[in-house]
Amino acid sequence: MKAIRFERPGELHLVEIPNPQPVAGWVRIRVHAAAICMTDVETLRGRHPVEFPIIPGHEFCGVVDQVGSSADEAWLGRKVVADNEICCLKCGYCRRGEWRRCTEFRHIGFGPPGGYAEYVVAPVHNLHVLADSVSFEQGSILEPLGVGLAVGRIGEVQLGMTATILGLGPIGLNCLAVLKASGARRILCLDKQPKRLALAKSWGALHVTDDSEQLKALTRDLHPGGTDIVVEASGHHPLIPLGVNLTRFGGSLVLGGFCKHEALSIDPDSIQGSNRRVLGAGNNPGFIEPAAQAAGDGVLKTEGMITHRFLLDDFRQAFSDEQLTASDFIKGIFVF
Ligand SMILES: [Zn+2]
Ligand SMILES: [Zn+2]
Repeated sequence: MKAIRFERPGELHLVEIPNPQPVAGWVRIRVHAAAICMTDVETLRGRHPVEFPIIPGHEFCGVVDQVGSSADEAWLGRKVVADNEICCLKCGYCRRGEWRRCTEFRHIGFGPPGGYAEYVVAPVHNLHVLADSVSFEQGSILEPLGVGLAVGRIGEVQLGMTATILGLGPIGLNCLAVLKASGARRILCLDKQPKRLALAKSWGALHVTDDSEQLKALTRDLHPGGTDIVVEASGHHPLIPLGVNLTRFGGSLVLGGFCKHEALSIDPDSIQGSNRRVLGAGNNPGFIEPAAQAAGDGVLKTEGMITHRFLLDDFRQAFSDEQLTASDFIKGIFVF
């Protein structure tokens, strides 16, 4: 089969390798769509710890075409998306649902081969059936949609809350879809890219802006006393103090963006004195299933987020800085 392999930081190839064979308890999936995540890009840049070489791709879906044992034959031909966490399901962490803390944790696409390939293998217990109403393209972006769901749950969004999203990459946009569907009102968004701002407006944001000063003015007018829930989804650490200041007394700032370990000086009393809650939301296993169900029933819609489609042969273009920073780029996927 064809697969994209990251050999070492900065070096990638399209390789021809044997098709993987599933062992008992696993299946093989014929990949139909696999989305490009910025974590893959950071991996290629050497800023995400992995042992090279790897076949990346942790956001993928397809059809089960082979099973490791006859007990799992019912999965053959099913349209599925797979959780990318591999864990023992027996230890204390697993039993508490903290899969990524499992001592046997491995992450498909960051060690075990991922979905930038014609076939990928995954444990049966990782599979979720996709409804007919969910296209393969949509199926490939359910994993980041799950992050949006996690942000909503962690921030305890409720009907009627005011909300602001800082950064409208795929994670920020997915948070918008979830906040909107959860009944948040007067949603304000900040981003630099006009295409992302326009998409957020079309998904129901009340106001979008590329200027943090304007965002502050909008907040004073529309969220008097501060915003109930602010989501930092850019991973651009200078926005965190802004997020704290926008949040109302007792409100929540949810950190959904990865800040690449950049340090930040912050006045702790701006949190302590106003009972603000600063919540981490960077580790969210278990949300693909509810994302698949919500998307399948039309509760969460993310049309327009996928802006670029590539074949595996286009791998150089797909991972080029020029493509990733293009003014019309939001989310790219490989199609097969
Ligand atoms: Zn990802
Ligand atoms: Zn475990």
